[in-house]
Amino acid sequence: MDLIDLRSDTVTRPTPAMRAAMLDAAVGDDVYGEDPTVNALQQRLAADLGFEAGLFVPTGTQSNLVALMSHCERGDEYLVGADAHTYKFEGGGAAVLGSIQPQPIPQDTDGSLPLDKVAAAIKPVDPHFARTRLLALENTWHGRVLPLDYLKAAHDFACERSLAIHLDGARLFNAAVACGVPAREIAKHFDSVSVCLSKGLGAPVGSVLVGSAALIEKARRWKKVAGGGWRQAGMLAAAAQYALDHHVDRLADDHARAAALAAGLGDIPGVKLLGQHTNMVFIDVPADRLRELDVHLREAGIRISIGYLPTLRLVTHLDVDDEGVARTVVAFRTFFAG
Ligand SMILES: *Cc1c(COP(=O)(O)O)cnc(C)c1O
Repeated sequence: MDLIDLRSDTVTRPTPAMRAAMLDAAVGDDVYGEDPTVNALQQRLAADLGFEAGLFVPTGTQSNLVALMSHCERGDEYLVGADAHTYKFEGGGAAVLGSIQPQPIPQDTDGSLPLDKVAAAIKPVDPHFARTRLLALENTWHGRVLPLDYLKAAHDFACERSLAIHLDGARLFNAAVACGVPAREIAKHFDSVSVCLSKGLGAPVGSVLVGSAALIEKARRWKKVAGGGWRQAGMLAAAAQYALDHHVDRLADDHARAAALAAGLGDIPGVKLLGQHTNMVFIDVPADRLRELDVHLREAGIRISIGYLPTLRLVTHLDVDDEGVARTVVAFRTFFAG
């Protein structure tokens, strides 16, 4: 029985065709800037998203970290969603390693940071305060797509207030596919964008940070300092290239399957459907039945993550097909019928 793993879109395994592309990759020492496949990936994503330069790094966490450290100096501050990944799920790296103070802003339910709240959090120029330098947004956020007109407003606001603006676009392409626009239409509102290749796009490892040549030069230095100076990374870049060639448009399938999963689960007494956004479905089940549900699903060959968020999050991806969705709905139905 195939395992259906709905814990995250990070669990995908490289397809046979992706593995073949990895085996064939030309490689060199990336610390010397000599890996042709890494260089091609960086140039390609920068060009596609409308930026001068790109930097291929091991993780989204390192990508956001080096972005923040390139925008901000010691004693600077960045404004960030109180439930944003960068603030909440990256070990406080910007503060720990970059001496950058986060100023969390409570988010609206769609993930946006209300700009009046952002404005109120900007510190006066005065030695009492950290220097507010950067606004960081996330799209998608818990699967939710930030509206394009909000991105434009946030961009204009940042310009007016002389703030730089960074996007944690771990799932940028999910947002673009959901909006039906090229990813650059989202990216154009930012000074830097971090994109994960290892989520819905299905590559085994890697993120790319894009920005101006000057910003990426700084980020390259911080990447090395953070221990991210990898060598013949071209095999990983080849997987990323393959993902960009073959796995972007199909994100629509993940979104459709998440919608089907939501529809199926929403019909089951005992399951409270909280929402479905892009490739994520959020549900509540009675807390006293959680453990039992987990055991039941494992026996049916289904994994979900329990305890990571207050609600249950089910995520569709490359390795979940229509049959996987149907089997999941049946497993939930059997459990709540019993
Ligand atoms: C996964 C994720 C990251 C971090 O990526 P890692 O590769 O796991 O370090 C950053 N931001 C968001 C929104 C993510 O979902």
